[in-house]
Amino acid sequence: MAGSAGVLASLRYLQCCARNVRGRLLSQPKTVIAVALFGVIPLLGGCPRKELPPGDKPVSISLGSPSPSPSPIPTSFNGERAMAHVKKQLEFGPRPPDTPELVKTRNYIVTELKSYGLAASTDEFVANTPQGRKKMANIIAEIPGESTNVIIISSHYDTKFFKDLHFVGANDPGASVGTLLEIARVAASSSTKPKATYRFVFFDGEEAFCEGWDDCGTPDNPDHTYGSRHYAEQLVDRHQVQSVRALILLDMMGYTKLELGRDTMSSRWLQDIIWQTGRDLGYTKVFVDRPEGVGGDDHEPFLRAGIDSVDLIQLNDYRYWHTPEDTLDKISAQSMKIVGETVLASLPRIAAHASPGVHPSVAQ
Ligand SMILES: [Zn+2]
Repeated sequence: MAGSAGVLASLRYLQCCARNVRGRLLSQPKTVIAVALFGVIPLLGGCPRKELPPGDKPVSISLGSPSPSPSPIPTSFNGERAMAHVKKQLEFGPRPPDTPELVKTRNYIVTELKSYGLAASTDEFVANTPQGRKKMANIIAEIPGESTNVIIISSHYDTKFFKDLHFVGANDPGASVGTLLEIARVAASSSTKPKATYRFVFFDGEEAFCEGWDDCGTPDNPDHTYGSRHYAEQLVDRHQVQSVRALILLDMMGYTKLELGRDTMSSRWLQDIIWQTGRDLGYTKVFVDRPEGVGGDDHEPFLRAGIDSVDLIQLNDYRYWHTPEDTLDKISAQSMKIVGETVLASLPRIAAHASPGVHPSVAQ
């Protein structure tokens, strides 16, 4: 089943900026499993005078177990911290691959990850692009779990190259980078070892150098997703595909009017867990059922490799996409908090679903 071309027959498509709907789906909807609920315990003492919106409520999220009665670990995804990460990225300016600005961004991300007690590393490689050979580097950090099953949580961290535009990418990818950093901080602060290993990966070179997603490149060497393709190829070469049970991709999820439709390429069981978790946390208006046609993103190389993947993205009604107006005022700490809390609360459920010996991609 291919994605909906109609979704992309939009204004942005006319601007030749849309990512083309590509390929057939590699992941079919699976039977939705029943996922055990676990406690979400407001930490507010007494009776609040005023009901806070759901995202303002501090919650306690168990990172280590999906069982109904885990000992809750007080965690607090701090939207303001995520916002501070976005501001920092924007201070560096436009951040295309192989620029001093992206090197500064990379160093910032690595320094942050290390400050959370994580061993962060970079994987450097050279990509052949329409602008010649470009030095790129993915950033990787990991929290070892009880098992070697890996759940990857990811975002790209490069901004799209524009010859004549000052494009700073607050939402694309500032917000997802800020959210991923804050997720990593919260997860690293847990005293409970997670069931699965959590790996945080920041991809270089997601954006096309040419204006449109498929304007340049070849099927064998497309002009986009350089870092994620490099990473997925490594997993295949090293026979590590089976250990990666799921990949969660964050991309453009910080809009002040956050509403996440279901990316049509994503693995349904994984998407279902995250959508249900978001709704359990009270974010029913954010995690909606309308399809979101994206047509390709950093999760695609992983889907092709047989790794179940989900993209949390709001592309089609984000009118500032790839414009100079993708600025700080378009995103909010609250939106990043909603996504961050939901991903954190989803991780134990995903780990429970992706139990040893069962690889959802391989199961028919
Ligand atoms: Zn983009």
